[in-house]
Amino acid sequence: MADRVFIGVLHYENSVKVTHFLGISGVKEVIPVTKTYKLVGREFQQENTIVKIGDAVFGNGSFPVIAGPCAVESEKQVLSIAKSVKAAGAKIFRGGAFKPRTSPYSFQGIGKKGLIFLAKVREEIGLPIATEVMDVETFDLVEEYADVIQIGTRNMQNFSLLRRAGNSARPVILKRGMSATLAEWLMAAEYIVEQGNINVILCERGVRTFVRHSRNTLDLSVVPAVKKESHLPVIVDPSHAAGIRDQVISLAHASAALGADGVMIEVHNHPEKALSDGPQSLYPDQFFTVMEKMKAIHAIIRKKNEDIPY
Ligand code: PEP
Ligand code: MN
Repeated sequence: MADRVFIGVLHYENSVKVTHFLGISGVKEVIPVTKTYKLVGREFQQENTIVKIGDAVFGNGSFPVIAGPCAVESEKQVLSIAKSVKAAGAKIFRGGAFKPRTSPYSFQGIGKKGLIFLAKVREEIGLPIATEVMDVETFDLVEEYADVIQIGTRNMQNFSLLRRAGNSARPVILKRGMSATLAEWLMAAEYIVEQGNINVILCERGVRTFVRHSRNTLDLSVVPAVKKESHLPVIVDPSHAAGIRDQVISLAHASAALGADGVMIEVHNHPEKALSDGPQSLYPDQFFTVMEKMKAIHAIIRKKNEDIPY
């Protein structure tokens, strides 16, 4: 079958006449998109968007894992963790060089030095790099080193940053805002895609609720909801959702069962000494076990999907 090409009419003030396009040769269908988000919605594109980063494929039914520390602390630290997570089967290494911290007195990341250490990981361990960009000013620099750029929770509605990401050739992981609705999250993704960058991966990382037993509440139900509304891949970050190591393990298993397009997990070689997010970082051996279990759970889910199409 030949590929279908979708053409979207955007920024048009008046209502578009469907009949105007139907007569044109080569036009199969005209679909008025009723949602406020256009390009990222399923109304516009039924097929899943597939994002490839190195060996990792997001959106094709596989379950790639992104793993690494919250923050880059030293060259030795990232090389050691990267070696462990790669051996366990992770496909992308994560680590923040610029850290968005709630308190200005908390560790802010080591900046450019951290990006250089991450490049060393790519070179020596052979894993692509995911790292966060915090502002438009440092975008060029981060873009130079990252294979995939993360936009964090606190920046989900930083519209100038989203537009800049939309003009990047790098894929983007867009984390859900701390209290963002699904529509707000998709609209944020729309800012990136509207600028021409279709390679967006959504990441659920927990939302703020009244509970005290975890840092945030992982909104598992948002994954099937995203899949219904959007063609973009959606992954889960159980680490920032839980904030507590033991819960991260259970929620990682749940993410594999959920049919998410992957996970992002924080791993540290010495969590007790970590400069940020130590309590939620898994020890390398715990990560290894989680990987084994996620793989087994994902295999069952895939088989079921193939047996029972939905
Ligand atoms: C992170 O991934 O280290 C991070 C700061 O995540 P979030 O934006 O989800 O809080
Ligand atoms: Mn973190």
